[in-house]
Amino acid sequence: MKKPVSVAVLEGKIVLGVLMLALTGAIVGITLWLVDEQNSRAEAAVVETGAQTETAAAAVPRLIDLGLEPFLLRSTLRGVIGQRLVRVLCERCKRSRRLSAADLASDPRFAAIGFRAGEMITDPVGCERCGGTGYRGRQGVYEILEVTDEVRPLIDGKHDSTIVDDAARRSGMTTMLDDALAKCRAGLTSPAEALRVVALR
Ligand SMILES: [Zn+2]
Repeated sequence: MKKPVSVAVLEGKIVLGVLMLALTGAIVGITLWLVDEQNSRAEAAVVETGAQTETAAAAVPRLIDLGLEPFLLRSTLRGVIGQRLVRVLCERCKRSRRLSAADLASDPRFAAIGFRAGEMITDPVGCERCGGTGYRGRQGVYEILEVTDEVRPLIDGKHDSTIVDDAARRSGMTTMLDDALAKCRAGLTSPAEALRVVALR
C-alpha cells in the first residue's frame, strides 16, 4: 500500500514503530506501523518523501520534518536502512589491476575512500555482452543505522544528522561507503562506480 507522504497519514493514529527507511535513488520510502485510535486496526503505510538523503542518519530530521514528534520517533525508531544501487561489472570483460602510487597521486579520491597502493581494483572494459558499457546488472550497497543507546538520545529534533551519523559510526555502523569499498575489493564493482553512487564523508 503506497500513499503520498503527508502529515495527515499520522493524524489520529498511534505510531507503533518506524521500522525501515530505504533510500533508492531519489526515493525515500518509509514504512510506518500505525494503529488507528478509533478502531484499533493496525496498518502499515509506506510513505515516500520524493527526496534524497545522503546518509541513513539524515532520515531522522526528515521524519521529524514530516510531522513525527521527536519523542515519538525517539521511542519507536528501531533502525534505518540506507540503500543505493551500484552497477555490477561485466564478468566477461572486467579487468583487474594493481593500484599504483601514480593512480593514488592522480586521483585523491582513491585514498579518500580507503584504498592503498598495491591493492587490486577492477575496472570496466566493455564487450558485446554488456553493450560496451563494462557493466551488467546492479546490486545494492547498504548501511544499517541501528538505534543504539548512544544514538537514541540524539533523536530530539535538536541534533542534526551528522551528529547522529557520527554516533552510529562509533557504535559500529557499516556505512554505504564501507559496503561499496568491500564490493570493489571483491571485484563486483569499480572504484569509479562506487564514487559515483556513494557520498564521501
Ligand atoms: Zn562486457
